[in-house]
Amino acid sequence: MNTLSSPAIVRMIAALTDHRDVNLLEASLLKTVADLFAPGWAVIFHLGSDDVPEFSSSLRDGIVSQIDGPQTFAELVSTTGVTSFPIMSNARKVLGYLLVHRTPELSTDEQALMADLFRVYDNYLAVLRDSQIDRLTGLLNRRTFDDQLDRALGLIRRAYHDNSDDTSKRKVGEGNGCFFMGEIDIDHFKSFNDRFGHLNGDEVLVLLARILRSAFRKTDLIYRFGGEEFVVIVYVDDRNDAEMTFERLRRSIENHAFPRVGKVTVSIGITEIRDTSIPVELLGRADQALYYAKTHGRNQVSFYEALVASGEIEPYHNDPDN
Ligand code: GH3
Ligand code: MG
Ligand code: MG
Repeated sequence: MNTLSSPAIVRMIAALTDHRDVNLLEASLLKTVADLFAPGWAVIFHLGSDDVPEFSSSLRDGIVSQIDGPQTFAELVSTTGVTSFPIMSNARKVLGYLLVHRTPELSTDEQALMADLFRVYDNYLAVLRDSQIDRLTGLLNRRTFDDQLDRALGLIRRAYHDNSDDTSKRKVGEGNGCFFMGEIDIDHFKSFNDRFGHLNGDEVLVLLARILRSAFRKTDLIYRFGGEEFVVIVYVDDRNDAEMTFERLRRSIENHAFPRVGKVTVSIGITEIRDTSIPVELLGRADQALYYAKTHGRNQVSFYEALVASGEIEPYHNDPDN
């Protein structure tokens, strides 16, 4: 067993809780595992839809990576010398697994130390997840959008570049798809509050969040951006597909019977996320398209790129893509 001094363990716990990003936290956990046990490898899986374990990140040769290896969870977990630790939510639900491979296998004392360390990780993860979520709707909140957008743009940039030469390295999505951002704003929402009261207004937001969740894929990112504004980042086949996806959403909201307030409509501004996009321009372009929808009758989807191409609007100030 590795004998660690108390200061070393405290330092390790401090390092583990240094970050406010779930992915960085996971990387810290893997590095801590490396320091503690010097394993051959360690891999983290998350339970995806239908509780199937999906690869998340790994530690091999001391390097943390998010590139999947060739072996499946079932193969890895049954390898000799592997110890498996469940990742738990604060409601004691299994969220995934950490697999640690070492020869010789982790001793009972080492497993107990790892289990204690894992409690710190699980508790911190629960607090972190909680801070990313909007309380009312359960969607990701605005702060998370700000935190994640830069990272997402980095991934998108990499995906575009990888797609052009080596398809085996493609990390985000499959096929020759592209990313779009949609800004969704409820029409005349203030009047719902005025007519039906704030609590019924809140109910509309909760129900709308539910429709958003069912309209997009699990891998798409949905944020409550502000009061009655939502932002969605989707991965689709092409521009046409993006337009159809948001148009379908607009229609399903229009056709939904909201129990107390009846009919609700939204205006949507969409723009393509290109490898040159930066957050402020992306939001500026979507805003411009949304503003166009609001000033041309509401309850419609406006496409920034199409509006610029047809001369309906001027390109966004400083737009590097135009
Ligand atoms: P427009 O079609 O131009 O978007 O009109 P609007 O009334 O939707 O837009 P406006 O920006 O004038 O008003 C937004 C309203 O959203 C104001 C505020 O009362 C309401 N709102 C913001 N956050 C919440 C919330 O959490 N709950 C409720 N019930 N209302 C909220
Ligand atoms: Mg608004
Ligand atoms: Mg509004």
